[in-house]
Amino acid sequence: MRDFSGGHEWLSINTATLRRQNGVEQPLPVILDACARHGIRAVSPWRDQVHAAGLAQTARSIRAHGMALSGYCRGGMFTAVDAAGLREARDDNRRAVDEACELQAACLVLVVGALPGALQGRAAHKDLALARSQVRDGIAALLEYARARAMPLAIEPLHPMYAADRACVNTLEQALDLCDELDPVQAGALGVAVDLYHVWWDPKLSEQIARAGKQRLLALHVCDWLTPTTDLLNDRGMMGDGVIDIREVRGWVEAQGFAGYSEVEIFSHRWWQRSHDEILATCIDRHRRSV
Ligand code: ZN
Repeated sequence: MRDFSGGHEWLSINTATLRRQNGVEQPLPVILDACARHGIRAVSPWRDQVHAAGLAQTARSIRAHGMALSGYCRGGMFTAVDAAGLREARDDNRRAVDEACELQAACLVLVVGALPGALQGRAAHKDLALARSQVRDGIAALLEYARARAMPLAIEPLHPMYAADRACVNTLEQALDLCDELDPVQAGALGVAVDLYHVWWDPKLSEQIARAGKQRLLALHVCDWLTPTTDLLNDRGMMGDGVIDIREVRGWVEAQGFAGYSEVEIFSHRWWQRSHDEILATCIDRHRRSV
């Protein structure tokens, strides 16, 4: 297992971590500059941030900073109420693949979607099995497109508390079942993003990480689970402040040969009150001590 105590060369910053400051949305160029000031070598930006800053401009600026992309957030949201909605999702996901290629991302992260309309507070139906079959078909179709462009797709299982509104793939086992069904050759085209916030509680976690193996382990997202958690979306903890044994899980992932970045992804009303410099200095310190 790699020793992170002496440096932060394998620390990546998911740009949502610096997305807001005192309620004000922060432009991506400002976030990238802050990361560069702290010697961050990799980031994982969100599509809305890239669209606001401009794709070509962002690609140039990332190259100028000499940064890598540990991932691109995100594709997915494959479910819909009708054929037109499914087509729209398909086309949007293809654009996401194209953007990920332009940005030279290590993978496109997929948050797969769930009951249509639920995120807006009005689920169109209660058929989770239908949602899961649309997700399967959506990934299958996108995989062909992404494979032709050599852009790996990383299915991110989300904590079951999001099963209705964000993702109906909720365990690593479920994500790997999809991988094995849709990409039996395991050539690195389809895999998983292991986000500790979503999967830390799973009694099958170590077993499923071993099942995934190096070819399927495309990304590792780290933060911590606070007790109590006061907001189901935006109260993620800084590494070391919660109950996740991050180092143990990183050990399992690295035992499979994973040698990529630990991507810090913290959506937090608490941390979004602090300055970028304070957040990044803390991320670097905790990456050394708690990751
Ligand atoms: Zn994540």
